[in-house]
Amino acid sequence: PFDILVVGAGPAGSAAAVYAARKGLRTGLIAERFGGQVMDTAGIENFISVRETEGPKLAAALEAHVRQYDVEVISAQRVRELHAAAQPGALHHVVLESGASLRARTIILATGAHWRHLNVPGEEEYRTRGVAYCPHCDGPFFKGKPVAVAGGGNSGVEAAIDLAGISSHVTLLERDPALRADRLLQDKLRSLSNVSIMTNAVITKVEGNGTKMTGLTVQDGSGTARYLDVDGVFVQIGLLPNTDWLRGTIERTAFGEIIVDGRGMTSIPGIFAAGDATTTPYKQIVIAIGDGAKAALAAFDYLIRLPG
Ligand code: FAD
Repeated sequence: PFDILVVGAGPAGSAAAVYAARKGLRTGLIAERFGGQVMDTAGIENFISVRETEGPKLAAALEAHVRQYDVEVISAQRVRELHAAAQPGALHHVVLESGASLRARTIILATGAHWRHLNVPGEEEYRTRGVAYCPHCDGPFFKGKPVAVAGGGNSGVEAAIDLAGISSHVTLLERDPALRADRLLQDKLRSLSNVSIMTNAVITKVEGNGTKMTGLTVQDGSGTARYLDVDGVFVQIGLLPNTDWLRGTIERTAFGEIIVDGRGMTSIPGIFAAGDATTTPYKQIVIAIGDGAKAALAAFDYLIRLPG
């Protein structure tokens, strides 16, 4: 069996595998796709100490770093089930979609998350060329330009407040008749002079010129289609953790985030979690990497305390 089995090879899982292997532990990494969401990212400018890089380049660097160590990489495999040990100290096991089963003393869950999409024409075509999901990541690319934010929950309103300080104008679009964000955030948003709010507004198409996005078609409450001239849209309608397969095992929030403590410990002893799949606030590469390192060190601490 593995001492530490890491599920997911995004930034969090890769960091966990490197930290585990450096402790001389028998380490396995289930890597459906090295890099995770990083593979879907064009420019990255906030991975500290690397001024500028691209998603596939950073993903390749994560893989190369992992492969420098004695890590058993189980490629192109997804995990389907988690079976926790019957008592502390016994082995946990996971079942892969192929039907194979892997046993381990500790497990680190790092299966990440994905942004809910608008699912309208043009969204895929102009992703990273106007269509964005992360204001902390891509906000500065829209300096002095008009943008829209889709979604009137806390994330959408926070994004609009954030972007109002960078872009020339922000239009917040909410499909329901009212915003759902906390009152305090809504008040802050309404106090800003370069923000407009449209409720009952449904985005039906991302428009572009073949090279980049040029605007949005938005249907208003009366059913009339309007054209909104914006250079970007930040889609803030939900970040969904990839944790459905854990239903009925470890504790998760109502949003599906794995509940972890400050050391990445879950509700089951010996099972840890890291990165976007967890309750750790602020979903970022640098944070996922730190989280992965932390979970591996916590798993190491757990292992050295096991009797026998
Ligand atoms: P992920 O990167 O999501 O990796 C999880 C991995 O686990 C994936 O490979 C997934 O396929 C795999 N997996 C899922 N389920 C299973 C399963 N059942 N079995 C096996 N494997 C599974 N952050 C920044 O800091 N800067 C940026 O500029 C930036 N830009 C972004 C741009 C976009 C378009 C997106 C989508 C995100 C961006 N982010 C950025 C956020 C950043 O990518 C994430 O915070 C980070 O990748 C999270 O790392 P993670 O390892 O927790 O999860």
